[in-house]
Order: sequence, then structure tokens, then C-alpha cells
Amino acid sequence: MKRILVTGGSGFLGSHLCDKLLQEGNEVLCVDNLFTGRKSNIHHLTSHKNFEFMRHDITFPLYVEVDEIYNLACPASPVHYQFDPVQTTKTSVIGAINMLGLAKRLKIKILQASTSEVYGDPEIHPQPESYKGSVSTTGIRACYDEGKRCSETLFFDYHRQHGLDIKVMRIFNTYGPRMNPNDGRVVSNFIVQALRGEDITIFGDGSQTRSFCFVSDLIDGMYRLMNSRDGFTGPVNIGNPTEFTMLELAEIIIRLTDSKSKLIFLPLPQDDPMQRKPVIELAKTELDWEPKIKLEDGLKESIKYFSEVI
Ligand code: NAD
Ligand code: UDP
Ligand code: UDP
Repeated sequence: MKRILVTGGSGFLGSHLCDKLLQEGNEVLCVDNLFTGRKSNIHHLTSHKNFEFMRHDITFPLYVEVDEIYNLACPASPVHYQFDPVQTTKTSVIGAINMLGLAKRLKIKILQASTSEVYGDPEIHPQPESYKGSVSTTGIRACYDEGKRCSETLFFDYHRQHGLDIKVMRIFNTYGPRMNPNDGRVVSNFIVQALRGEDITIFGDGSQTRSFCFVSDLIDGMYRLMNSRDGFTGPVNIGNPTEFTMLELAEIIIRLTDSKSKLIFLPLPQDDPMQRKPVIELAKTELDWEPKIKLEDGLKESIKYFSEVI
């Protein structure tokens, strides 16, 4: 039995990861400052004998004894990471240094939840891991994008300088149950608006694209990466390569919810990427992984969850 630290463990992805690790027979230490995470996401685990929650901000040092670290702490929705942008960068950079320092002291494996945002507003489509990205250093998304880019740099320097065993995962847009209804990301916004019969807020003309991965597929990929062969560091893209425009997404959600909501068009936020789709050949060959859940099926599960919580 391993004792595994999950930072950001009461967030959307983190809570599903805690479930998976417990199911596999591990002990889980969930560390979270509850900035965007919610106790309700882990409520069902609090009485589990192998689960422990610790309220802590990873920008401060953390001295615990564990066998493995999954570093997920960081707000992921643009609305939330732009709320306190300095704290967002601190979480990605100082938080990574602390978690890498912890992994170095304990000589243990550490996985970083990086992001497709390291590609910025990409000029290459779809995006392979070799693409170096097109990111603004000064715009409103930079606190997140540059913070995550720097965390990747730190991971690779701890690997080269201190021989640390690292796994770096570039996560593409993921959705599913336990997203916060006020999260601000597109899938949660559209479903909540459709269920409430409110206007669906399309930013820009809705022609921008994203490729949406259902949470169970994503967590499977994350677990496979952590347990991949020695010496495989990534970075590796994990995401669903089926691409949709935001207009298509809105239309599917209106149909699945049988909603009377109308579309309204609002200004496109600064630096909003126009297209995004992962190349997943590396994940296929190294992890024997590819996503299984189709968008409509994942949306149905998500709609069921949102209709229960709102
Ligand atoms: P989320 O906001 O639901 O979860 C993030 C968690 O981190 C929350 O529980 C929050 O309270 C916690 N947190 C934030 N700052 C912290 C700090 N300083 N100390 C301790 N805890 C802190 O978001 P999510 O979608 O679950 O994302 C999890 C990770 O995956 C993030 O690192 C995010 O950047 C990455 N990611 C997610 C997606 C996606 O589509 N969901 C895409 C790319 C990358
Ligand atoms: N750190 C931590 N827990 C540990 C070990 C280290 O939080 O168990 C933090 C510590 O605060 C330090 C950071 O990780 O600032 C980086 O550690 P490292 O050993 O790489 O650097 P140094 O201590 O030499 O600055
Ligand atoms: N978006 C939208 N309406 C919303 C929320 C988001 O049209 O209510 C758009 C947003 O401008 C972006 C896409 O949906 O082009 C995905 O946004 P999200 O915040 O989910 O993730 P990210 O931009 O980080 O991929």
C-alpha cells in the first residue's frame, strides 16, 4: 500500500483522482486550500479509513511523509485564476518548488498537472508535444500560462539537477461531474444556463474550437502516466482529439437538455485561443491510452450531475 499526496485534491479533477487511488488500495493525503475546491467533492471520502484531508496552501512549505505526489493544486478556470493572478503564479511556481523540494527530500516520484495552455493561442494545429507555443507574457491569461510553463521548467531542472523522477502531463479541456456550477468554464456555464432557461453566453462569434475530454478518461491517463515506465518523463498530452466549435457545443447542450435558452454573443476575452486539439500519439504508444467517452455521453452524465446540484 502506498501513501499518496494529491494537492488540489478537493477540486474537480483532484477529487476523482482521490477516488481512483483509494479504489486501487492506496492511502490518500488530500491537501487543498479550498480556494476553488469544495468539501462536498470529498464528503463521501471523509469516513474512508485510508483518506485524510489537510487544509494547506502549497505556496508554503509542507513536511509530510508520502510515497508519491500528484501536484494538481491551481485554479483552472480563467475566471478563478484571473481573480488573484499573483496568487495563481505563486501557486504554480512557489507551489511547484515546495512540492519538488518535498519529492527531493523523500526521493519519490512526482507528477505535474500541466496544461494545453502552455501552447497559448497556437499557430500549429493540432498541437504535438514538440510545439513550443505562442503565449503572451503580459496578458490576462499569462499568470496561469506562464506559471504552468515555469512549473514545467522547474520539473525538468529538478530532474536534470537532482535526478528526480518526474512525470509531466499536459491536460486539455476536461469536463464532468463535480465541476463547480459557478466554475466559469464553458461546459459548466452552458449546461447550467440551459437547465435554468437562461441565455447561453457565447464569447466572440463561437467559431473558436476546443476538444473536450471526459473526466474518467483523463484520470485513467493520469494514473497510467504516474505508473509508466522508468525514465518516461513526458511532457505528454492527455485529451480528447475530437474538436468542436463553441457554437456546436451550445447546440448539442440545448438539444440534450431540451432547453428553450437563446444564444447571446458577448465580447471574446483577451488572448482567448482560437483553436485547440491535442495530438495524442505519444500517450497511445507510451501509455496505451486513448479516450473512450464520446462528447454526447459525457455531456449526458454531466447534465445529470448539474441538474441535481443546482
Ligand atoms: P479546480 O479549480 O477544480 O481544482 C484546483 C484545486 O486546487 C482546488 O481544489 C483548489 O482549491 C486547489 N488550490 C488552488 N490553489 C491552491 C494552493 N495554493 N494550495 C492548495 N490548493 C490549492 O480545477 P481542476 O479542473 O480540478 O484542475 C486541476 C489541475 O488540472 C490544475 O492544476 C489545472 O491547472 C489542471 N488542468 C485542468 C484542466 C481542466 O480542463 N480541468 C485543463 C488543464 C489543466
Ligand atoms: N520543502 C518542503 N518540504 C520538504 C522539503 C522541502 O516544503 O519536505 C520546500 C522548502 O521550503 C524549500 C523548497 O521545498 O524551500 C525547495 O527545496 P529544495 O531542497 O529544492 O531547496 P532548498 O531547501 O535548498 O532551497
Ligand atoms: N466560453 C464561452 N462562453 C462561456 C465560457 C467560455 O463562449 O460562458 C468560451 C471561451 O471564450 C473559450 C472557450 O469557451 O473560447 C473555452 O473556455 P473555458 O474557459 O472553458 O476554457 P479555456 O479557454 O481555458 O480553454
